[in-house]
Amino acid sequence: MLALDVQHVRMDQHAADKTQALQCLVNILVEDKLVTPEYLEGLKAREQQSATYLGQGIAIPHGTPQSRQYILETGVRLAHFPEGVVWDGENKIYLAVVIAAKSDEHLQVLQVLTKALINDVSEQVRTATSAEQIIELLQAQPLSLSLHENLISTHIPAQDTDDLFWHASQLLKQQKFVEPGFLTALDPKQMIHLGEGIWSITATDYVITPAISIVKPDQALTYHNDTLTTLLCIASNEQLDLPQFNRLIDILFDPSQREKLTYENDSHEIAQIIGAEIIPDWPSKQVTLANAHGLHARPATHLVNISKTFKGDLQVAVDDGAYVSAKSLTKLLSLGCKRGQVLTFIAEPDTDAVLGLDQVIDAVKQGLGEEVEPIDDLSHQNEHVTEDVLSFDDESADQTSGIAASAGLAFGPAHVLKPREFKYERQSKNVKVETEKLEKAIEQVKQNIHQLISETKIKAIQQIFTAHLEMLDDPDLIQGVHKGLKQNLSAPAAWYEHIESAAKAQESLKDHLLAERAADLRDIGERVLAVLCNAPVISEPEEPYILIMHDVGPSDVARLDKERVAGILTAVGGASAHSAIVARALGIPAVVGAGASVLNIESKTTVLINGDNGDYVINPTADLIDHAIAERERQRQLRIEAEKHSQEPAITLDHHQVEIAANIGKVNAGIKAVKDGAEAIGLLRSELVFMAHKSAPDEATQEAEYRIILDDLAGRPLVIRTLDVGGDKPLPYVPIPEEENPFLGIRGIRLTLRKPDLLRKQLVALLRASDNRPLRIMFPMIGRVEEWRAAKAIFDEIFAEYPRENIEVGMMIEVPSAALLSPILAQEVDFFSIGTNDLTQYTMAIDRGHPVLSAEADGLHPSILLLIDQTVRAAHQYGKWVGICGELAADPKAVPVLLGLGVDELSMSSGSIPLVKAQIRQLNFAECQKVAQQALLCDSATAVRELGE
Ligand code: PEP
Ligand code: MG
Repeated sequence: MLALDVQHVRMDQHAADKTQALQCLVNILVEDKLVTPEYLEGLKAREQQSATYLGQGIAIPHGTPQSRQYILETGVRLAHFPEGVVWDGENKIYLAVVIAAKSDEHLQVLQVLTKALINDVSEQVRTATSAEQIIELLQAQPLSLSLHENLISTHIPAQDTDDLFWHASQLLKQQKFVEPGFLTALDPKQMIHLGEGIWSITATDYVITPAISIVKPDQALTYHNDTLTTLLCIASNEQLDLPQFNRLIDILFDPSQREKLTYENDSHEIAQIIGAEIIPDWPSKQVTLANAHGLHARPATHLVNISKTFKGDLQVAVDDGAYVSAKSLTKLLSLGCKRGQVLTFIAEPDTDAVLGLDQVIDAVKQGLGEEVEPIDDLSHQNEHVTEDVLSFDDESADQTSGIAASAGLAFGPAHVLKPREFKYERQSKNVKVETEKLEKAIEQVKQNIHQLISETKIKAIQQIFTAHLEMLDDPDLIQGVHKGLKQNLSAPAAWYEHIESAAKAQESLKDHLLAERAADLRDIGERVLAVLCNAPVISEPEEPYILIMHDVGPSDVARLDKERVAGILTAVGGASAHSAIVARALGIPAVVGAGASVLNIESKTTVLINGDNGDYVINPTADLIDHAIAERERQRQLRIEAEKHSQEPAITLDHHQVEIAANIGKVNAGIKAVKDGAEAIGLLRSELVFMAHKSAPDEATQEAEYRIILDDLAGRPLVIRTLDVGGDKPLPYVPIPEEENPFLGIRGIRLTLRKPDLLRKQLVALLRASDNRPLRIMFPMIGRVEEWRAAKAIFDEIFAEYPRENIEVGMMIEVPSAALLSPILAQEVDFFSIGTNDLTQYTMAIDRGHPVLSAEADGLHPSILLLIDQTVRAAHQYGKWVGICGELAADPKAVPVLLGLGVDELSMSSGSIPLVKAQIRQLNFAECQKVAQQALLCDSATAVRELGE
């Protein structure tokens, strides 16, 4: 097979005319020992018969059959002529694909090129500046039109064509056929009445792959005085498969077929009528994934192993997405399934896979080998570790910081491992030898991994290595490598190139947790490559050291002896990477993502790292090390002491009391909160209570659950937030259309105002459960006064029906616009609760879960403090109270500032309560007020954190 290869592209060639160009091409072929110089005559003769101009600035010169005698070896070379060469009359070429083929192999090249040229690539060909660019252009395969059951939706409660456009483009977007923006490309003026109530609309912008979605309103609409019963929404581009499209139109216009398309048809029936690809009508079962990090390599491996025990075909899809084999690890990973998403499994009828469905569902529920928190219990996710937090403070030392990935302090000599370079020949002539080499190397690596699994007792490490073994066995992966081998790549080249492209594909997944699994692929990639290239095993120093690397592969960490590796410092990586997971499992302190400069630290230089806050110090003084150790011990003692007084109030030395409350997300978490010293529940994240249910809990169920919490609080106040679904908190039975920016989309009150019944039921349940006990209800994500008023109006309506005593109604302040409008809102609410997590995210425009940037989103930034200050002053002016329920409330550096700004309540995860109470008892309120005023004048979060030190 003749393949187009980067190595075979010669850039920057020059020729005044076609004759010179042909000479230049023959020179290249001769240089590469593919032909003898006489082949030139064959090329010329062929051009005289008819020019080999292919189109779009490309020619495909090749010799006549008679000149094949001058061919030494079949091959193809590409030459780029940036100034162009006139080839055929007016046609100029910029790229010549010269072929020396002993038989008819050149047809394969032609086939690839013809397909690629369905796209207009002429301009890219002309302006290409690298060999890689050219190969990428030519290898683009046209995709055919997709018409699939998942792209059909019926019974849509549509008022007008806008509603239909929205649904039609959603279907295409969910299946990733179009990009966000496609909806805007749908121009109603372009609607065509195909007749008989069938309309079509076509757009070519934002199209990834041509496809058609079909939407039917629940009753006929009138459009331009005509009836509209069916809308075909065509996402088209040059690659549109016209024959298939024409077939569809033929069917729709065949009266006997069209008659069948009644309003009773569901999408499955329509798909059958029009010949669309159909979701197999196999037995199916659904389950919601509860794994914190989604369906990443380890749980996916577990799933593959279970699926493989059944003979029949077992497929799985996420939400309404496409089905993939549950037996292929790479396919499962490509689903990018996150916690909270629904997996639908289907099993081939009449096989044991059908019986296996229950087993698979159970396994998913149990976490696929991982410990999972039931989907209702997310409250810990925002827990903030306040123990062991230590900021280094030594100006003589060279201090910087990265991301805290594994808690603890560590110091020792630096052991810097830079990325390894492997040398190998890219091409090889002997596919068989290379295949054997590869198989041997993979076998050897597998044996090493088996040994590592047997040597470790730590489950997390065993699971990671088991996933690595599964990756090494993955048929898709191996097939990809074999493709390269067949194209005469050497074993290391075929292996490396395929692994790298698979890792890149994994990396491009939107979910950063799944994207981080690319590290696992590269990890096995490097291990096999090292064996193939006979690269030496790098030995580690004798004494406990700080390992410094670009990124630590999971197997690197696991291979390291905990007794020797005191700590880990990396240039890149996130806190949720496998390496961080393993470091945590081993108890090795780690700071990751500290930047490339860490690789320049001289080996043997002493480094001190703090895995609690991400700080690290190069050349710390002996005093600093002593101080760090002493500080850690001091914090431990402080906690023991604080726990003894957790039930006492938080009153400053000068008698200012602040209410200390707990954030909870579970019905039965109230008892522990009270035990930890909570004086109230300051935030019940009610969406987490909802998530414990498979379908929306009805009023009675909700009432019973709210009653449990109020009972457990024994008269203490309960602040409950109405449903805050959306953003990073999907609720399977409250579907939200896929959004480009979910955090900026339909979330919190924006959702419930669009589904007022949901809100109404929740409010009824709450009022009924309250029994006149102190209940404070607040609405999340209010950004506009209108939203507050709309929500409050619904409350008033319900309250009129269920009047109760002791009820307050307030709102969260977590959108900057709400904070800025607090002087107006304060007149209407009973209280504010400031959600600093979101307020920080939205004020600083940093995704709160961003693997790199989230460390910069510090709630102590003066911009946030100014918003808090304004909110508190506005509230107090109208006699209303203000709480803080974001993570900042438990941050020891923030507590004095927040007190000083006058907040009335701090609400936090209950584990933090004893320490925060103990801290407040040591503070002087008047001092806090001074510090707060200084903080408002600071220019950065760092400056605020340094106040009072
Ligand atoms: C917040 O945004 O600070 C908050 C408390 O709400 P959540 O973390 O649930 O979004
Ligand atoms: Mg929030």
